[in-house]
Amino acid sequence: MKFCFVNLPSENSIVRRFGCFFKSNSYLFPPLELLGLATLAKRDGCETKLIDCVSEKKGLDELVSEIKRFSPEIILFLLSFNDEEKDLEKVKFIKEKIPEVQIGCFGYSARFLADRLLDWVDFVINGEPEPVLKRILKKKKFSNIKCLSYTQGNKKVISDESCVADYSNLPFPDRRLINNSSYSSPFFGKPFTTIQASRGCPFKCSFCVHPFGKNYRLRSVESVLEELKEIIGLGVRYVRFVDDVFTLNERWVKNLCSAMLREKLDLNWECNSRAEGISEDTARLMKKAGCKRIFLGIESGSPRVLITYQKGYDLKRVKKQISILREAGLTVFGWFMVNPFVETYGDFFKSVEFAKTSGIDFLIVSQFSYNIGTFLKKPLKKKCSLSAHYMEKKFYKEFYLRPKNIVKLWALFLKHPFQVFDNFSGMIKLFAGRLNKFF
Ligand code: SF4
Repeated sequence: MKFCFVNLPSENSIVRRFGCFFKSNSYLFPPLELLGLATLAKRDGCETKLIDCVSEKKGLDELVSEIKRFSPEIILFLLSFNDEEKDLEKVKFIKEKIPEVQIGCFGYSARFLADRLLDWVDFVINGEPEPVLKRILKKKKFSNIKCLSYTQGNKKVISDESCVADYSNLPFPDRRLINNSSYSSPFFGKPFTTIQASRGCPFKCSFCVHPFGKNYRLRSVESVLEELKEIIGLGVRYVRFVDDVFTLNERWVKNLCSAMLREKLDLNWECNSRAEGISEDTARLMKKAGCKRIFLGIESGSPRVLITYQKGYDLKRVKKQISILREAGLTVFGWFMVNPFVETYGDFFKSVEFAKTSGIDFLIVSQFSYNIGTFLKKPLKKKCSLSAHYMEKKFYKEFYLRPKNIVKLWALFLKHPFQVFDNFSGMIKLFAGRLNKFF
């Protein structure tokens, strides 16, 4: 079988992941899930091609020409979460130009939309895609495959089962299929890549889609260590762990960091976490093992809103956690959400004040959206008259345009001149991306 894995073109700089999608001038992550699937197909003996139109800045015409030259039997793409319509227009164009090719898709929202998607594509993978791809490779057809919806003549065959992968048993994504120098994270160096050590999250945040379910599956320290060594072997020194909560199993984190130190891995890395649960020992060990920055999902500075979101911690704990991380020498990014359907005017300003006094180094604000598969339902009436767009702009302005913050940033530049020099373009991009939201 001849397979083409495609990260579809986009007019903007975007990151498409299995369970999230965002536009950003400053981030460009490799298409990790597509890369993993391409690796599986290649290992199975398939002729395989991965085209990342986002990093390669390819438009639709160029993509179609490249697909035609490769002439695959099957194209598989990752459906953008919350931006599905635009992808389907692109797929329609590809199908019109190359009608003989079978096109399929996967992604968090694909399973909810399978019936509709089958008006555009030939098959839809429900849930985590790796086991389903393995079954397709084995059977060399689409019919009667668990967790796969497909068309048969004029008939749609819809599966309502969703697939969960045995995450510890997948091959490492073959990063030789992409150009690792094309990817980036703000204020970090290149070549850059991402790695995932776990899937699933057991917490109950009411706004979260739980893209990989609540069943937490963590790879072994040995397996992650081997993958990191492979990454270093490719000349990559900047890595982001894209796990939802990298620090969830503190003992595992300590074991991994100790192993990284023992093996003298020369890496700069960053990770995502909840704003709790990291002890001083662990934070210091992470720093020693090369962790530079940590991204915390704080979400709000209003106790009432944190209860609505079921975050399960209070602001005192959040502040304490930030101070532990900063004392260990880590740079802390705080994620906040704005949502006029949940926040009152007072809640919003509590959030802004909390962010300003919390000790975080950088702030990232997003506008909340109500998604399929979450507990939180959109109320009929807004709680405050501000628009989410205004709230986002205001939040950035209040946080970044403070003399104290500018001095703090300048001090950071003085403390890490080489790193700042290395990452200067990343910083400019970060602020360029944020500044256009101020006005
Ligand atoms: S901790 Fe993060 S991934 Fe887990 S449920 Fe909450 S928001 Fe979702």
